[in-house]
Order: sequence, then C-alpha cells, then structure tokens
Amino acid sequence: MKPIAFTYHRPTSLDEALDLLAQWGPEARLLAGGQSLGPMLNLRVARPAHVIDVNDLTEFAYVREAGDAVDVGGLTRHYQLAGSPALLRHCPLLPQAARTIGHYAIRQRGTLGGSLANADPAAQLVLVAVTLDARLTLARRDGRREVTAKDFFQAAMTTALQPQEMLLSVRFPKLNVGEVCAYRMFNRRHGDYALVAVATTLAVQDGLVQRLRLAISGTAPLPERLDAVTAAFEGRPVTSAWPTEVADAVVNAVQPDDDERVPATYRRELAHTLTVRALTRALEKLEGVSV
Ligand SMILES: Cc1cc2nc3c(=O)[nH]c(=O)nc-3n(C[C@H](O)[C@H](O)[C@H](O)COP(=O)(O)OP(=O)(O)OC[C@H]3O[C@@H](n4cnc5c(N)ncnc54)[C@H](O)[C@@H]3O)c2cc1C
Repeated sequence: MKPIAFTYHRPTSLDEALDLLAQWGPEARLLAGGQSLGPMLNLRVARPAHVIDVNDLTEFAYVREAGDAVDVGGLTRHYQLAGSPALLRHCPLLPQAARTIGHYAIRQRGTLGGSLANADPAAQLVLVAVTLDARLTLARRDGRREVTAKDFFQAAMTTALQPQEMLLSVRFPKLNVGEVCAYRMFNRRHGDYALVAVATTLAVQDGLVQRLRLAISGTAPLPERLDAVTAAFEGRPVTSAWPTEVADAVVNAVQPDDDERVPATYRRELAHTLTVRALTRALEKLEGVSV
C-alpha cells in the first residue's frame, strides 16, 4: 500500500519545526529516521495530513558530557549511540543495547528521539531509558519542559508528548566509578524486537551489593523497573548463587500476559535466564573479565 496524500514540510531550523507543530500539531507527524513511521504510513495506520521531516536539524544529533550525566540529542542515530566514546565510557548500557537494534540499515537511520517517541514496549532504548530513569526534554514553540522516563512512558505506544511537542534531548546519568552494567535480550530471529530483555546496573563494595538497578521488558505492557525486588538485595553479600536468587525474585514479581504465540511460562523462563545472564555478565565486569 501507499500512504494517503499529505503535505511534506522540511524545516531547516528548530523554530521553523516548532512553528509547524504549533500550526498543525494534531494533524502532523514528525519524520526522523522513518523506520517506524514509514511502515505506519504505508500501512495507513498513521494518516497525518502533514509530515514534518526534521532530518535537516543535524545540530540535534550529538552526545555531550554534562557533569554527572551525558546528554544525547533526539536526532542521534542508533549507530552513533553504539559507537560513542563518551557513552561507551560513562553510560555503556546505551551502546550495548543500541547495537542489538534491528539490522544495519535500521541502525543507520533510526533515532533515539524516534524510538522513545514511538514507545514500542519491546524497544531497547525504551528499556534503557526506564532502567536509568533518563530525563527527556520536550520543546514546543512557547517553551520547554523536562519529564522523567517514568512519567514519559504512559502505555504501550503512548507517551506524555503533546501534539505540538518535539523530543529534543535525553539526559542519561553516568555510571558511578566502579559501577557496571549489562544488557541481555532474546529474540527468535536476528533483527526482531526482543521477546524479553533485561538491563541492569550493579555496584558492589566490600563484597556487599551497594546499588542494583534492574528493568525488564516483555513481561508487562511497558518495561518495568523492579525497584522493590532490587532493594531487597542491597546490603547483602554477592555469592555464586546470587544471580539465581535475584532471578527467582524477578520471576515472582512479574506477571506476563499469556498468549498462544508466547505463553506466560515461556516469558517467565526467559526472564529468569536473562536475569541470571545479565547479572553474571555484570559480575564478570566487576572482576575485570572481558568477553
Ligand atoms: C524491520 C525493522 C526492525 C526493527 N527492529 C527494531 C528492534 O529490534 N528494536 C527497536 O527498538 N526498534 C526496531 N525497529 C524500529 C527502529 O528502531 C526505529 O528507528 C525507531 O523505532 C523509530 O525511530 P525513527 O527515528 O526511525 O522514528 P520515525 O519512524 O521517524 O518516527 C517514529 C515516531 O516518532 C515520532 N518522532 C520521531 N522523532 C521525534 C521527535 N524527536 N520528537 C517527537 N516525536 C518524534 C514520529 O512522529 C513517529 O510517530 C525496527 C524497525 C524495522 C523497520
């Protein structure tokens, strides 16, 4: 199928893009990498009267250190996330997850802003934003506002973005010195979205868990950060049985939907296996093992 007819706009400045959104908001869609919007237009799932192509706003493709955080522009492509030295050093969860998205061509075009605005519950970058509780800056003609990832993602494919707003940048906290992270996912076919994925960060001091963050996708309508589970392990010793103990608690906490294609028991098993793998990988990193 082909898209319905729409008016194509190609602003060359942010002001121009925001003016167009202010004018056409509810009838318009921003076009970034086009890797989700393109298929939605072709299938006529999206039927905007106006498409605002923001690909000339190249100043919003960047990765910048900002004190104890890293700021990433909304138009930064997945391959740029995967290869950014600042992210690899301070926020490696983002490159680790970005390099597993789809296929080469999708990573060359798809953007951080597009992925988060699209809010697919299985998207890698949505999971990372939830894990790290990233802060998103949204812009409209008359101002800007900051929203936490927790507040931004409201339901599957639904966010706090207003029709006149553009997602401009995302602030990810840096890992603390000595803190490590790991991301593990499972999909049935290379390039598919994950059935279940786990992202974690871990800090250990004197053999005791100092800080543990863990979020999971594929077990609820949105990725969930399991703070109640992880809090129970903080201050406790890290033993060889520890990843399995955390995984047991994760499986008790999640309630995946049951469907014919992917039964809930299968998702629970994946949640268990991937939690063990992610935590084992995090422990290897603490011990300086590079795999
Ligand atoms: C075959 C295939 C496999 C894929 N596999 C995966 C995968 O495994 N994991 C994964 O996470 N993704 C996957 N994707 C999706 C891909 O990551 C997309 O790039 C991403 O979801 C959307 O980013 P985009 O820049 O292409 O956005 P677009 O497609 O241009 O836009 C998506 C939506 O976001 C809105 N939007 C875009 N930018 C902004 C902005 N700055 N502010 C506000 N709204 C904005 C658009 O209006 C639109 O509604 C896959 C896509 C394809 C085609």
